Amino acid sequence: MGWNRKVLRVNLSAGTCTEEPLNMQWADDYLGSRGLATKYLVSEIDPKVDPLSPDNKMIMATGPLTGTMASTGGRYTVVTKGPLTGAIACSNSGGFFGAEMKFAGWDMVIFEGKSAKPVWLYIENDKAELRDAAGLWGKSCWETEEKIKETLQDPLVRISSIGVSGENQVLYSCIVNDLYRAAGRSGVGAVMGSKNLKAVAIRGTKGVSGIKDFGAFLKATNEAKKVLADNAVTGQGLPKYGTQVLMNVINEIGALPTRNHRDVQFEDASKISAEAMHEKRASDGKTHLVTNAACFGCTIACGRISEIDKTHFTVKNSPKYWGASGGLEYEAAWALGAANGVGDLEALQYANLICNEQGMDPISFGATVGAAMELYELGILTDDIIGMAAPFGSAEALAKMVEMTALGEGFGKELGLGSKRLCEKYGRPELSMSVKGQEFPAYDARGIQGMGLAYATSNRGACHLRGYTVASEVLGIPVKTDPLTTDGKPELVKAFQDATAVFDSAGICVFTSFAWTLADVQPQVAAACEGDWSMEKLNEVGERIWNMERMFNNAAGFTAKDDNLPPRLTHEPAKTGPAKGLVNGLAKMLPEYYQVRGWTPGGEPTTETRARLGL
Ligand code: SF4
Repeated sequence: MGWNRKVLRVNLSAGTCTEEPLNMQWADDYLGSRGLATKYLVSEIDPKVDPLSPDNKMIMATGPLTGTMASTGGRYTVVTKGPLTGAIACSNSGGFFGAEMKFAGWDMVIFEGKSAKPVWLYIENDKAELRDAAGLWGKSCWETEEKIKETLQDPLVRISSIGVSGENQVLYSCIVNDLYRAAGRSGVGAVMGSKNLKAVAIRGTKGVSGIKDFGAFLKATNEAKKVLADNAVTGQGLPKYGTQVLMNVINEIGALPTRNHRDVQFEDASKISAEAMHEKRASDGKTHLVTNAACFGCTIACGRISEIDKTHFTVKNSPKYWGASGGLEYEAAWALGAANGVGDLEALQYANLICNEQGMDPISFGATVGAAMELYELGILTDDIIGMAAPFGSAEALAKMVEMTALGEGFGKELGLGSKRLCEKYGRPELSMSVKGQEFPAYDARGIQGMGLAYATSNRGACHLRGYTVASEVLGIPVKTDPLTTDGKPELVKAFQDATAVFDSAGICVFTSFAWTLADVQPQVAAACEGDWSMEKLNEVGERIWNMERMFNNAAGFTAKDDNLPPRLTHEPAKTGPAKGLVNGLAKMLPEYYQVRGWTPGGEPTTETRARLGL
């Protein structure tokens, strides 16, 4: 049946942990993980709630394929109302924590209220209890994992935690599991911090039972694994080069946002690329990359494990950073590098390590530094305000800023509010490269037109993982479309958004979609889950989830005016590359998109659309 049929409800105000049955009608309508947890959230909170108040809730959820033998089936999601955007937030993470939740017998954990003092939650199969976190508060994610394992005398316990950044409610704090996997975007770590919840530790020994048709499931998962292995991207490119393989590709097509999107190509892109990770350093003759790594059950293994240069200025006096650790992935390398004009690979890895150690989203952090550096170059921010010189390209400023932000020191407190609030405070709101308050990832919407629409309409603010049309517009997956035209993009964006909602809700990694379509996912879901899981139904579930998220945002106060892009992308033409002279054509695409979606011109699902989807 795919689901454990069991929910754990943790009331942090009362200090209670209660078991309740999973709503199986909702499981049938929303599948699991992102979709199902969002259904619970929108049914239980006021859309206008302050995200950092006790009245907000936070849900950690698995999907029906989480913990199974489906490739990449180790994902879990964190769903809440996000403090960075005020919109629905759903952040997805790999590693091993999600599978462990499933092995302990739970489909999801709902956190409500706020603890009077710092606590952590320990789940051991059916048993769940809150424990005092006084000794953990003020510790990093890495120290927290180590201390909990020591306390429990169990090296196999799986832990998700927040660092000092989440405690301080940096608005783009994330929740880190397994040392360097994270529910990364939209500030879910700040919500956890606001609840005085430091960590969740899980030990599950039950395995996964109840697959509907085990023979069919074995066949479907084996066939789907073969598709991944035979595909050039998932079988060769990602294992060897990781997601960072995109750095030179995206730079060449003129869509690598550089220096806060002033430019679309970065002269030092090759220095921070996947290829550079394989080159021997002059200082010690070692490559930056040590090996690749896989999350639970993954047959792609795109993860990077790297070792920083011990003589680099960032770490030469800090041996704790000398060992092999996670990173760099493409989005982090871009945000910490090209977005700020920094071409020092070791400095990027250092900033990435601090983001992992203290639990910060490197995309929003790096992009916020980019905005600060532009304000500095314009003379609006000064050495006195920041506490140092901070021109574009300064690796020293990047390294100092990541420390200050993670620990809530000096100007780091302002950086911790994100680029929207920073740019508003200093009178230049248009310089925040964000949508709904969340910073862009690593694709310039002038060079990849469909991504502009995907960003503008993303339900959790600017994001590449809600509708990755880069796959089609750049890589030709599943079909090649022209990245420089707006034609056909509303349909393309809708198709990617709805399909991604299904991948996320099943409990698998969206990177499989480089090789899989929904037709590869459907037999796996159908064999694992009770009920009829046809292609038609999966398509409908994806669309239902997208519209449910949209309706929550509408009720929270978002309108068509919030489906926008910064004027830099719609009025300042790209200066170089294939998109030279182009701006993003959002004004043309957006009304077409609303029509394709069955929404009003004001961006709300029509009565007919809601009725068709049962919303
Ligand atoms: S493809 Fe990469 S991110 Fe996705 S599950 Fe595998 S290792 Fe993790």
